[in-house]
Amino acid sequence: MNTASLKKWFRALAPIGALPEGGVTRLAYSAEEDLMFGATAGIARQIGLSVTEDCAGNMFISFPGREKEPCHLIGSHLDSVPGGGRFDGVAGVLAALLVMDKIRKNGEDLPVRAAAFRAEESSLYGLATAGSGVVAGSVNIAHLKNARSLSGESLYDAMIRKGYAPGACRLEHALDFMELHIEQGRVLFEAKEPLGVVTAIAAPTRLKATVLGRQDHSGATPMDLRKDALCAAAEIILATEAAGRDEMRFATVATVGVADVVPNALNVVPGSVELRIDIRGIRRESIRRTVGKVQRAIEEIAASRDLSCTTETLSSMDPVTLAPSMIDSLSEAASETGVPFRKMASGAGHDAMKIAPVVPTGMLFIPCDEGISHNSAENASLNDVALGAEVLLKSIRLRRLSIEKTNAETPRRTESAP
Ligand SMILES: [Zn+2]
Repeated sequence: MNTASLKKWFRALAPIGALPEGGVTRLAYSAEEDLMFGATAGIARQIGLSVTEDCAGNMFISFPGREKEPCHLIGSHLDSVPGGGRFDGVAGVLAALLVMDKIRKNGEDLPVRAAAFRAEESSLYGLATAGSGVVAGSVNIAHLKNARSLSGESLYDAMIRKGYAPGACRLEHALDFMELHIEQGRVLFEAKEPLGVVTAIAAPTRLKATVLGRQDHSGATPMDLRKDALCAAAEIILATEAAGRDEMRFATVATVGVADVVPNALNVVPGSVELRIDIRGIRRESIRRTVGKVQRAIEEIAASRDLSCTTETLSSMDPVTLAPSMIDSLSEAASETGVPFRKMASGAGHDAMKIAPVVPTGMLFIPCDEGISHNSAENASLNDVALGAEVLLKSIRLRRLSIEKTNAETPRRTESAP
């Protein structure tokens, strides 16, 4: 793989949305995201590739004349969170360009297309993987109209403002899809392994728990006469942690990330607390068990402290299992490179989870330093991006071989039929 080109491309994109304090801000459907798409299209054209756009503004990069041919699709996204890193998403799009550049230089006859999806991050409109979701058919107009930024603009209006027509197209001419992405966790970094083949993408179930105690004077209320909502909430937080730890072997995790204390004053016994609980996993049964344990713990804690507590399910999504055929070809390709790799689940959501129900989908992780992402300190190695691109290319070659083998076998069977 041509790491010199990769470095040049990466440097060309780096100033877009760059912040003085480090990191980048390239929000969905913003001027900065447009600049990322424009610059990436420029790189693609420079290396002799053609560029098209779909109804949501997603970009497809093809070998000229092969735009409508069924192709192996590879790619990721180009937007970022506010103050995000330069590798999240970008690594996957540049890896795809690297693969196509190599195929073109080799003169290989491989049908491959690169994809850059819009609006993967939910930071601005509160809806993640919107670009891929629209063309996969799982994000509809109502979802887009309900997703609003703080200024009140809906994601639907943002797409219209940019001249797109969400709902007017579907993903076309894709045989399968692969996404290279930084892990955004510390498993590969700690294990010093440069590659991870993703088997499944976790999905979150989100709960809101409201603890209602009694707001009292913190000086005048004896300890045995209190209904302290925050003390109950503290027990719930620990019970959530314990429920997650009980399911560790299934890679399920449980987190209380938000605690709103009312009135949040030094001299007042807290009257109520609202907790937001995020439970994620790749096994439906394990997620269900964890949610059940948390809900039972909340009831028991409320009863033992004689205060009331209500829970509400804010959202519940199913985990996505990636295609075994894609996991196999990526694993075989990774083995061929001779570097250590592991099969692993993704705790974070990605465009791949939106494309997975439409065509066979695989995902490849590379490490990021200390597992840090969605942070200006995010960093990864361009050598790992190039290594990942090599695995993507090898994997596509393996997929071609198996398709050609199937095609060669099919007529023989027909001939031998009576
Ligand atoms: Zn990403």
